[in-house]
Amino acid sequence: LKMKKYLIIKNARQILTMRGFSDKPKIKKEMADLGIVENGVIICEDDKILAVGKNEILKKNRSRFAKVIDASNKVVMPGFVDCHTHLVFSGNRADEFSEKLKGTPYLEILAKGGGILSTVKKTREALNSNWKGLKGSCLKRLKMALSLGTTTMEIKSGYGLDLKSELAMLEMIKELQKSQLADLIPTLLGAHMIPPEIKRRADYVEQVFEMIGQARRKKLAEFCDVFCEDKAFTLEETREILEKAKKTGLKLKLHASQFNDLGAVELGVELGAISIDHLERISDSGIKLMAKTKTIGVLLPGCEFHLGTKNYAPSRKMIDEGVPIALATDFNPGSSPILSIPVILGLACRELKMTPEEAISAVTINAAHALCRGGEIGSLEPGKKADILILDIADYRELPYWFGMNPVSKVIKNGKVVI
Ligand SMILES: [Zn+2]
Repeated sequence: LKMKKYLIIKNARQILTMRGFSDKPKIKKEMADLGIVENGVIICEDDKILAVGKNEILKKNRSRFAKVIDASNKVVMPGFVDCHTHLVFSGNRADEFSEKLKGTPYLEILAKGGGILSTVKKTREALNSNWKGLKGSCLKRLKMALSLGTTTMEIKSGYGLDLKSELAMLEMIKELQKSQLADLIPTLLGAHMIPPEIKRRADYVEQVFEMIGQARRKKLAEFCDVFCEDKAFTLEETREILEKAKKTGLKLKLHASQFNDLGAVELGVELGAISIDHLERISDSGIKLMAKTKTIGVLLPGCEFHLGTKNYAPSRKMIDEGVPIALATDFNPGSSPILSIPVILGLACRELKMTPEEAISAVTINAAHALCRGGEIGSLEPGKKADILILDIADYRELPYWFGMNPVSKVIKNGKVVI
């Protein structure tokens, strides 16, 4: 018989349990309730949480073989869930960033071969001839994210833009998962852009259908996502792709209403998308519709911040109407080179006018629901995965307050201290 391993975190100044929402995301005032236990203790058994409560519960749960962590004067909370990233890509666009700051228009940058197509070119090359190098840089990013508290991450394909390269991107995510740095959830985003070599749009939509079929057969993707936008995919193309994905058995996500409101919110709700992401230009009727159906809205303030456009999503209106809100980094080399959930929390409070409590709910339990994992992660409750952060702050409100700092002092992943 294998001996069970116990880990005890005791004397925590505040434990943010986020309890009571494993079966549905938090909405409205529920987002303000962090289920705080003061002077608390968490007992983990192997990779699961066994008990959470006041320090006193230790008396009847004593184990001589436990590793003990003293969290005096510290905040303890669930690991961050980053439910929208584009972590796999080659190179970076720091040159373009600097050009833009000098005033070069984006169209000129695109004409010089910059923009998203430069990332596609570099990523295709790396997938073909520098797999190890690409894997190395992805692992480096995952380690950095883990040290910033991210224990679960969704990753999208979308820089391959042909059948072979898109599947290779998903294979890369599968290989990264083996590193066990974080739990990775793969999303097929073959419909990110129409690649430059394609002459007829319908030909590419056909290719995306093939990607969906193969990704599903090879179990390489859990979600299918489409970028529905003027320069990407039309509402009709988006419908065709998502309907095909749904029929094939993939769950749905959507990049919608970032720059233009094309009706993708209504489409996403109609098709039962798990989350609709971006939503900077969502209409009032779109908000009411999402609130009615409890579709999760994933807000990505890193984009507007980095692009400097300041057209933030109407987050207050969405929360007050009852849309369940999650937050994510949208980590990517073009519009959000931001890998830090603590920075996103800082932006959510300052720019989206969310309260610290709402923002913290949005990167834990609600983000878990945006990945259909509300029953396993996102809160500290018995039976859930022992993915736990110990923060070197005495009050959770310091988390969004100290902007740009990293308050994470320990990361516990699957019951083991990894940072
Ligand atoms: Zn994105």
